[in-house]
Amino acid sequence: MCGRSESEAGPLMEGQNGYICFDCVMRAHEIITEYLQEQKQKGGGDDFVADLAKVPKPKEIKDYLDQYIIGQEAAKRCLCVAVYNHYKRLARQADTQADDSVEIEKSNIIMVGTTGTGKTLLARTIARLLNVPFTIVDATVFTEAGYVGEDVESILSRLLQVADYNVERAEKGIVFIDEIDKIARKSDNPSITRDVSGEGVQQSLLKLLEGSIVNVPPKGGRKHPDQDYTRVDTRNILFICGGAFDGIEKKIAQRLNAHTVGYNSVQNAKRIDPQNLMQYIEPTDLKSFGLIPEIIGRLPVLTHLNPLDRAALQRILVEPKNSIVRQYVKLFEMDGVKLTFEPDALDYIVDKAVEFKLGARGLRSIVETVMMDAMFEIPSSGKKTFKVTRAYAEAQMEAKSQLR
Ligand code: ADP
Repeated sequence: MCGRSESEAGPLMEGQNGYICFDCVMRAHEIITEYLQEQKQKGGGDDFVADLAKVPKPKEIKDYLDQYIIGQEAAKRCLCVAVYNHYKRLARQADTQADDSVEIEKSNIIMVGTTGTGKTLLARTIARLLNVPFTIVDATVFTEAGYVGEDVESILSRLLQVADYNVERAEKGIVFIDEIDKIARKSDNPSITRDVSGEGVQQSLLKLLEGSIVNVPPKGGRKHPDQDYTRVDTRNILFICGGAFDGIEKKIAQRLNAHTVGYNSVQNAKRIDPQNLMQYIEPTDLKSFGLIPEIIGRLPVLTHLNPLDRAALQRILVEPKNSIVRQYVKLFEMDGVKLTFEPDALDYIVDKAVEFKLGARGLRSIVETVMMDAMFEIPSSGKKTFKVTRAYAEAQMEAKSQLR
């Protein structure tokens, strides 16, 4: 195609009336990609949510989540409804004939639960099911505009990126903001001095949550006077926030105690489960923790994740579709080795996870430690089966702790 011979251009691909070289193929690829991107930015391909009949119903979404996430019923139900309603709102906007006397407002969500209980997992799993742009951002990187760190607007740059820079699509997306508790104000009093990583960030986040037109610097960079901004309307973007809110149980307990003095107090006190205070969380507790009331008001759906007890950890180890045990079985299978765990060994792993207090996150590192030597030896040993017994697991864990 470019007129060069095979000796100059390398291997040539033969067509009916000519040849094409590697360089020409690459160039053609670039041109086509650019063309497709331009088309996307112009809009088009946007009827993807208009048909509500094709969107999974809340129960179907939950069935899907159940395959990967153990327990956490309350949070699952909240998320499923919120996501479904998000689609409904979008479908209604796409329907030009709908009577617009009743405007459906969005309901952003806040999920509270200690670390390693599945907040991020919930968000990631639901993202796989959706066909709207979805991104997960971490609130710890944000600082007030003008300070070292990222501006809050960079959330939207990410969303634009996953929407292939199609603004219209990005404006219908879902954003998961992790670790929202890290931008809590340090004390409950409104500050007189600046709180660069707390209140200031909450104020700028508020602008996004409320729904406004935001100028987004292209490709995520910091704001700069010479840059062309992309204008993004956040009115229809669904925000899901998650955070561990370490120590919020104390605030909940204080509030509950205050309430239990007085009428009906004895009965109420009996009903409260002190092991899981998180389930009684209310918006005022978030305020005591240091979120400004305006933010709380913009996150009207408040849900909690339960701490994982022994039984839950045990199920997490084996039940989910991609459970840790299944992953290791698969790894060994690739070497033609049949891996099995004795129930005793699994009990031991769960015990250790409870001892380390890392929630489900601890499970993986424990299994990894137990399996490390086997993963090193087995591929070249010619063995066809491998059984992990409690004694083996114990020996491995002890050997590793002595090395440390
Ligand atoms: P966090 O609540 O801190 O965001 P993650 O969602 O990141 O916690 O959980 C860490 C890991 O623990 C997940 O990748 C998953 O393997 C496991 N896990 C946590 N909770 C559950 C659960 N309810 N069901 C199944 N796996 C879980």
